[in-house]
Amino acid sequence: MLSTMQDEPLSLATLLRYASTFQSEAKVATWTGAGTRVLTYGELGRQAAQLANALRGFGIGEGDRVATFMWNNNEHLVAYNAVPAMGAVLHALNIRLFPEQLIFVANHAEDKVVVVDATLIPLFGKYLPSLKTVQHVIVANGDASALEAPAGVTVHSYDELLASQSDSFDFPVIDEKSAAAMCYTSGTTGDPKGVVYSHRSCWLHAMQVCSPMAMGLNSQDNILAIVPMFHANAWGLPYAALMAGADLLMPDRFLQPDPLLQMMATEKPTFAGAVPTIWTGVLAALEAKPQDITHLRDVIVGGSAVPPSMMKAFQEKHGVRILHAWGMTETSPLGSVAHPPAHVTDEQAWEYRITQGRFPASVQARLIADDGSVAPNDGETLGELEVRGPWITGSYYSPDGSDIDPGKFHDGWLKTGDVGKISPNGFLTLVDRSKDVIKSGGEWISSVDLENAVMAHPAIAEAAVFGVPDEKWDERPLVAAVLREGADVDAEALREFLADKVAKWQLPERWSFIGEVPKTSVGKFDKKVLRAKYAEGELD
Ligand code: ADP
Repeated sequence: MLSTMQDEPLSLATLLRYASTFQSEAKVATWTGAGTRVLTYGELGRQAAQLANALRGFGIGEGDRVATFMWNNNEHLVAYNAVPAMGAVLHALNIRLFPEQLIFVANHAEDKVVVVDATLIPLFGKYLPSLKTVQHVIVANGDASALEAPAGVTVHSYDELLASQSDSFDFPVIDEKSAAAMCYTSGTTGDPKGVVYSHRSCWLHAMQVCSPMAMGLNSQDNILAIVPMFHANAWGLPYAALMAGADLLMPDRFLQPDPLLQMMATEKPTFAGAVPTIWTGVLAALEAKPQDITHLRDVIVGGSAVPPSMMKAFQEKHGVRILHAWGMTETSPLGSVAHPPAHVTDEQAWEYRITQGRFPASVQARLIADDGSVAPNDGETLGELEVRGPWITGSYYSPDGSDIDPGKFHDGWLKTGDVGKISPNGFLTLVDRSKDVIKSGGEWISSVDLENAVMAHPAIAEAAVFGVPDEKWDERPLVAAVLREGADVDAEALREFLADKVAKWQLPERWSFIGEVPKTSVGKFDKKVLRAKYAEGELD
């Protein structure tokens, strides 16, 4: 028996129509260094219509890829909405990819148009001659003539192009299963691979982001989206903000702790999201120059494990709750968020909050043990996490239909490459990425646990731990630590500090004090680079 319900597709065109009318007074504000440039969602709808008209004029139609090479700002949000709403596919390029990776992903996705921020022309201009399918470049926020166009490419000014277009567009009815956006993994552990999100997955994911089980967004919120829009769709914040009628605050290129704190002081966001390394910097800046940040009701942090010491410092010194979340580009990215259950003591609540979080109903999860069996969710047994659900990818994008990395999929489940345990009530605790677990004398050492333990020392700003070859034990951990400014501590004192925090056999013998932990294009510790430096004897 079929239901009597209307068969209304879940589409980003519907979302844009909704936000630009029924939430028309909500706004996106972009930081300029001293204040903000503001666009209401009503204006956003009109600009999106102008951009859609311009793209149609270029011959862009259903399924064509339109890329962005942008900071988080108003114009990026316009493209984010106009492109999928007209039936084309948004491809937010990661501006920090290595040149060869950037060229690879733009050619692989066959991007036809790129919207570029004028401040990024010096970088983009180097790549453009190698982008084989690009026909049009639209330059926003500055002088388009600064970009030299190779043969076959036309360069346009965003403002002039939009000004010449009608501000109404008849956005089509879109099949909810069709492609809305695509994102490539940042290549922390290999070549970038493309994930294609559908209108349906974006919609359902945005609803989940808005729900109190995740970020609990509503029209009272002002969301500071620090996580780049090219990093797993800024964790779904842009579409969720439109759905919730929440304001968005975009940092543009001002991503250092001082300007972030300045925009917070002026704009008083209620919510923010960024990877741990950003918050480590903000915390240090707050130590140097205290500032009230209690306007932030919650801060979502994920992308790599959040050191519990940092969560506690934000809570205890600054009255700000950090929500720890886990996800991947492949999972849209929201996979789990650490809200503690009701009726637990404060101390027990912390035990839950430092986990990677509880899975929502739409994300099915299981652990696969070394022998291939499904491990029990007993909060102890370790296994590789596999997930499935309506916003989790079932394959990687392949232009010619060939299977890309089929080993990442297992009977309809995505193999995450993350090793951990799941409690009987659905909380995930990750031990490590399977590639980063240190195998010492047949036992496993979690590099993340060691990092968290070292970073809890007051003299340590950051610490990355990775396995190095050892004749006797196969592998042993090496700690690459960064001291806080003005602090002084040696390896022996740190070993003593760890003595009651980690098992004796896990205590690292190898320590290296470095100026900075190298970071990936999305701000994670780059252990590939550290391993290479170690191999070349640069970390001894
Ligand atoms: P990349 O794989 O290129 O780094 P992603 O941002 O998609 O790009 O990374 C997803 C991975 O990041 C996860 O598989 C996991 O290893 C790691 N990760 C994400 N959130 C967390 C978290 N809260 N704790 C630990 N690891 C995390």
